[in-house]
Amino acid sequence: MPHIAFIGLGSNLEDPRSQLQRAFTELDGLPETRLVACSSLYRSAPMGYLDQPEFVNAVAKIETTLPPQALLQGLLNIEYRHGRERTFRNAPRTLDLDILLYGDTQLHEHGLTIPHPQMHLRPFVLQPLLEIAPDAAIPGIGRVVMALDKCRNQVLEMLADAA
Ligand code: ADP
Ligand code: MG
Repeated sequence: MPHIAFIGLGSNLEDPRSQLQRAFTELDGLPETRLVACSSLYRSAPMGYLDQPEFVNAVAKIETTLPPQALLQGLLNIEYRHGRERTFRNAPRTLDLDILLYGDTQLHEHGLTIPHPQMHLRPFVLQPLLEIAPDAAIPGIGRVVMALDKCRNQVLEMLADAA
């Protein structure tokens, strides 16, 4: 049975919009995986480390039979192809792909936590997620719409429909 998963996309280097557009296509190209929906692209100010360009963020909905660890490997491979370098926490990046939700799975194992542990605190994740999954809930946390209500501390600007 395929699982529905939501992937968070972010970029703030080297033409972020085209990084995200290419990444949508590459998600659809992962084995055993189909891209079901893409949010609009959103522009957001950096959080954590502030002295860097603004981000472009989006969320994708996929259907996949890959198990969570294999899906993560696939995402890391795509990041690598986009020239992603890991320097320091919250550093600028060409492409960041995070597994936000994987069905109603809750897991915490080496190198992988689902739901993504910070997602409920990040408007740049919650707002695009809400756009394509208005009824979504975060296992262990609650409805996405409630989480977003509690953290409206970041201004987001919708850029364009991804399609
Ligand atoms: P961040 O996304 O927090 O800025 P990275 O993209 O560098 O940081 O991720 C660091 C590591 O986080 C990844 O190598 C991966 O093993 C781990 N990780 C844990 N949970 C997840 C998740 N749900 N989605 C993506 N990566 C995750
Ligand atoms: Mg990441």
